Amino acid sequence: MKTVADLEGAKLVSVQSGLDPVAEKYAIGITPAVLDLIDRNDPADPMALQFVPSTAELHTTAEERDDPIGDLSHSPVEGIVHRYPDRVLLKAVHVCPVYCRFCFRREMVGPQGLGTLTSAELDVAMDYIADHTEIWEVILTGGDPLVLSPRRLAGLMERLAKIEHVKIVRFHTRVPVVEPERIDAEMVAALTSSGKTTYLAVHANHPREFSPAARAAFKTLVEGGVVLVSQSVLLRGVNDDVETLAALMRGFVENRIKPYYLHHPDLAPGTSHFRIGIEEGQKLVAALRGRISGLCQPTYVLDIPGGYGKADIGAATVSAGDGCFRVRDWQGEEHAYPPG
Ligand SMILES: *Cc1c(COP(=O)(O)O)cnc(C)c1O
Ligand code: SF4
Repeated sequence: MKTVADLEGAKLVSVQSGLDPVAEKYAIGITPAVLDLIDRNDPADPMALQFVPSTAELHTTAEERDDPIGDLSHSPVEGIVHRYPDRVLLKAVHVCPVYCRFCFRREMVGPQGLGTLTSAELDVAMDYIADHTEIWEVILTGGDPLVLSPRRLAGLMERLAKIEHVKIVRFHTRVPVVEPERIDAEMVAALTSSGKTTYLAVHANHPREFSPAARAAFKTLVEGGVVLVSQSVLLRGVNDDVETLAALMRGFVENRIKPYYLHHPDLAPGTSHFRIGIEEGQKLVAALRGRISGLCQPTYVLDIPGGYGKADIGAATVSAGDGCFRVRDWQGEEHAYPPG
C-alpha cells in the first residue's frame, strides 16, 4: 500500500482523511505482513501509529530539521557517511518496504528521495572504502539494504570481500519483521558471501512485531551464521511504558537477538507527537535494570543533532560524594564506594 486511496480502501483511515498533504511530503508504505499486525478496532494501535500516516505530521516545530543527525556534513562521497574513524555507512538504496512515520531520514528516503546509487557512484564509494585503511567495518543502511535482490547484494559483498582491512559487514534493516518472506537461504547466502563477519541489526519497536513469520526469518539468519543485534526507537504511544519495553527486549533475546540500541527519537520534521522527554526515557530505561535479565538491557542513545555522533544518555548511577563515590542500585538506593 503506497497511496492514501490504498489506505482508505483497506479501511485503515477514514475517507476524507485530509492525508493528501502528508502523502505529498512523505512516502507511505505498508506491507502485507504489517497490515496483518494492525488492529483496526484500536484507535491507539501501536502498529498503526508506526506506519499509518497522520495529519499530526503536518505540524513541525522550530527545533526540527531536515537532516536531524547531520549525515550530510560527514559525507565525503555520495552514499558514504564517515563520522567515526573505524566505520562508515554505505547507503546503496534510499527506499524501504515500509515508511515509518517517525523516520529520522524521512527527508531522504522514499520514491521521491535520493534513489539508488548509480554504478559510477558505487565505484567511487567502494574506492573510498578501499583507500581508507582505517575502515574496519562497513554498515549497509539506507533506506533498507535488504530491498536489494540477493544477486545485487552478493555483487556488493564480492566487492567488499576484496578489501582486506574491512573485517565486519553490518546491515541495518526492518525486512525480517516487515517482509519476512524475503529472508530465505538465498538471501542469507548473499548476506554472508563476503566471508567477513556479518552482523545484522533488526529494527523493531513493539513485541507484536515478533510474528511467527518474523521469528522464522530470525532463525534462518542466525542458523545461516549472521549475528543479530537489535535497534528500537523509544516512541510515545508505541513503547513508552516499562511492560512493553520489557516484553520487546525479552522478545529480542528469546529470538537470539542481542539488544543493542534504544534510540531517543531524532528531531525529524513532523514527528513531535512521537517524542518523549529525555528524563522520562531515562526513568523507563532505569526501570528495566534489575527487573529483567542483563541480557535484555539496551543502551539508551541519542544522535546529537548536527552530526556529532551518538551519546549514551542513560541516567548516571554514580556521583561523587564526600570523599567517596555514591552508587545507585536498581531500586534507587544509594551506596558508598571508596575513592582511589
Ligand atoms: C550510528 C552510526 C554509526 C554506527 O555507530 P555504532 O555506535 O557503531 O553502532 C556509524 N556511522 C554513523 C554515521 C552513524 O550515524
Ligand atoms: S525502515 Fe528505517 S529508513 Fe526506512 S522508513 Fe523506517 S526508520 Fe526510515
